[in-house]
Amino acid sequence: FGDKFKKPEGSWDCDVCMVQNKAQDVKCVACQSAKPGNVSVLQLLRVKAF
Ligand SMILES: [Zn+2]
Repeated sequence: FGDKFKKPEGSWDCDVCMVQNKAQDVKCVACQSAKPGNVSVLQLLRVKAF
């Protein structure tokens, strides 16, 4: 795959159905699952781990 397959900025993949969603989508367009990977929480965990 080349540059044509690049994801749009901020896009995210649903953990449940692997559908790619847009950055402005807070829920999966296919299965309505909440957007995974809360960035702020992940960053907090990383700070505590190190
Ligand atoms: Zn989904």
